[in-house]
Amino acid sequence: MKIGVFKFASCDGCQIAFFEISKELIKMDVDIQYFLEAQSENHFDHFDISFVEGSISTPEQEERIKQIREKSKKVAVIGACAVSGGIQSVRNFMDFFDVLSSVYPSPDYIKSLEKSKPVSDYIDVDYELRGCPINKSQLLEIISSLYLGKEPVLPSYPLCLECKIKGIPCVLILGKPCLGSITVAGCGAICPSFSRGCYGCFGPIKNPNIQSLKEVFENHGFGDIYSHILTGFNAYNREFRGNDEKD
Ligand code: SF4
Ligand code: SF4
Ligand code: SF4
Repeated sequence: MKIGVFKFASCDGCQIAFFEISKELIKMDVDIQYFLEAQSENHFDHFDISFVEGSISTPEQEERIKQIREKSKKVAVIGACAVSGGIQSVRNFMDFFDVLSSVYPSPDYIKSLEKSKPVSDYIDVDYELRGCPINKSQLLEIISSLYLGKEPVLPSYPLCLECKIKGIPCVLILGKPCLGSITVAGCGAICPSFSRGCYGCFGPIKNPNIQSLKEVFENHGFGDIYSHILTGFNAYNREFRGNDEKD
């Protein structure tokens, strides 16, 4: 099985999961054709599956992601940057030129798209691995399933269910805000298991009931839920922004 690992606008943190499952990858004898962070010899030819980290943020990246799609049977986006646009999509809610000139003294030299967008805004995507960073078990689920000729199974239900399965007490009772009811499961309910509220790094479930959670937050005196959602890793996820901005 030929694999490619690609990076766009991101911090490289999700690619670390490949090193965490390196023993399993060796056992499966997968052929990593392209992975700049891990090896010096790389081939951009044909991939059974390409993993893409990072958002699309420059004109060159827009061209490159289309080339990757053409050469790949399957494409999996990994992490909140690739799935939703990442924390860098905060600029999508601001004046682009104000942001550019506040960072660079000579913004005329910078070639950048006005918005940081998810990969799925540009190409068809087969699998989404959520999180900031991703969970290595979910990465292994995709690779081992395809290796065995099966379809990977990734949860689409809310994090609250994961809490219930593991018997973790709800942090709302402790007076702590939690986005678990609108956040997709898959992390193992890490934050609630340490008595902390989920801040939504795995991103939204399909059709999240934001209004209901807003009421829960108001009833608990937690304040405006939108300040949590709209300033986070997944602020530009389509479930929060609607479909009207797709190119
Ligand atoms: S999703 Fe988080 S860990 Fe992954 S590349 Fe983006 S910022 Fe880094
Ligand atoms: S702690 Fe959060 S994720 Fe867990 S059940 Fe309560 S609201 Fe849901
Ligand atoms: S509990 Fe929420 S914030 Fe914490 S790791 Fe899981 S999805 Fe991310």
